[in-house]
Amino acid sequence: MCATAVSEIRIPHFIGGVWTNSTSANWQDVINPATGASLGKVPLAEAAEVNAAVEAAAAAFPEWRRTPPEDRIQPLFKLKMLLEEHIDELSRLITIENGKTLGEAKGELRRAIENVEVACGIPMMMQGYNLEDVARGIDETMIRQPMGVVAAITAFNFPAMIPFWFLPYAIATGNTFVLKGSERVPLTMKRTFELLEQIGLPKGVVNMVNGGKTAVDTILDHPKVRAVSFVGSTPVAKYIYARAAASGKRAQCQGGAKNPVIVLPDADMSMATKIISDSAFGCAGQRCLAVSVAVAIGEAQKTFRDSIAEAAANLRVGNGMDETTQMGPVITPQSKTRVEALIGQGEKGGAKVLVDGRNAKIVGGENGNFVKPTILDDVSIESELAHTEIFGPVLSLVHAKDLDDAMAFLSKNPFGNQASLFTSSGSAARRFRYEAPAGNIGINIGVAAPMAYFPFSGWKDSFFGDMHGQGRDAIEFYTDKKVVVERWAKEHSRKF
Ligand code: NAD
Repeated sequence: MCATAVSEIRIPHFIGGVWTNSTSANWQDVINPATGASLGKVPLAEAAEVNAAVEAAAAAFPEWRRTPPEDRIQPLFKLKMLLEEHIDELSRLITIENGKTLGEAKGELRRAIENVEVACGIPMMMQGYNLEDVARGIDETMIRQPMGVVAAITAFNFPAMIPFWFLPYAIATGNTFVLKGSERVPLTMKRTFELLEQIGLPKGVVNMVNGGKTAVDTILDHPKVRAVSFVGSTPVAKYIYARAAASGKRAQCQGGAKNPVIVLPDADMSMATKIISDSAFGCAGQRCLAVSVAVAIGEAQKTFRDSIAEAAANLRVGNGMDETTQMGPVITPQSKTRVEALIGQGEKGGAKVLVDGRNAKIVGGENGNFVKPTILDDVSIESELAHTEIFGPVLSLVHAKDLDDAMAFLSKNPFGNQASLFTSSGSAARRFRYEAPAGNIGINIGVAAPMAYFPFSGWKDSFFGDMHGQGRDAIEFYTDKKVVVERWAKEHSRKF
């Protein structure tokens, strides 16, 4: 057991299989959002440190690429077992640095593990296709080859799962990988890379650098980085997509969200309330698939409003390490201030604060970033707030006359990460599935998170790129297609 006090931890990089202390002059505190306690310091890497990680990945690529896919997946089987063995320890790390509850942290790790499991199918998934006799005696074959060095830049809200939307597929397809995780939650990936160190990967196949904008820009401009995956806010996603494209990289950039849910009067109201409450307030609303604006129709306007207000008011808010806590804090004091200001903006704009989570008093959490669940009623369908990502535990209620009205509201949403409908009508559900302008659709589902064998399909300002994370899209993203057209003269075969 390491004797170093947690607050003294200075997070190293992992470059070419070696834990490397940063030489950066810039460091940032890692803070427990529930207590305000310092958990350690994270470096904001200088360009030279990032360049070293890319060079280590580039040096490892030729041999890793030649390693048969069947051999490349063997370490992933070990990784799955190690993640299972360490799931409680990793959950605790996620909770102390991100704030979500232990149950939510464990749920996130299950999704991370699922991506490892799916990537173990690469020998099947990576196959190409062929056709004999495309012309007389001529055969054509499409093969997939790894690209080289690929990188991922990730958000704070799922410290384990989001890097695993990329890492397992990237290396199983034969690429080498550089992660620049979120500087706000570096402890989970540090521990995960200690596990990655034990699975028998050659040095340089996986690398991790800690940092902020300088690290990101160095990745984006590096000529040896072939592809970049990003998860974070929309303005940064747009920036990364443009800058990556400018240097000829393949890019997939997942951005922010404002996820609507429509509640029809024929919905099972108690199920809808429970599921929508979990979606809106789970992870303190800091999920890119959190429902954040509910459109109730007809009688549901009153029944849903009353039941969701009661559910919100009764949620137990506190430190996620306490097993009885149902909702933790938001990530930073700045985030708390921003969320509370947006609630105030809604109020000024005429919304009624039905349940007010501002100025939360949490025993033992006086220095934490707590905002309690909040319900804003009668948010104008025309207001800016109805389309603004809050990324906190705030559910806005807007009212619509009928499904046509509600669908018109959805069509104005600049984001397209998720849209949900609660109903018992098959025809309403089918219409919704057909018309809703979002890439992940929930029918009586509050968090329509695709399993790892389906793509995570954001649309509009929630995604920039062509190929999504996870599933078959991951194989498309991480491989170059090569088509071989062959003719062999008959005379030659007669010699044998
Ligand atoms: P963020 O955009 O602030 O940061 C994400 C990453 O980008 C971090 O690694 C950060 O270091 C880097 N970064 C930040 N500013 C940068 C800049 N100016 N230049 C270059 N790099 C920069 O996002 P966040 O606060 O960590 O995460 C929350 C956001 O992520 C929300 O908007 C949420 O909706 C979104 N998100 C989206 C998905 C999705 O699948 N679409 C999933 C999770 C989170």
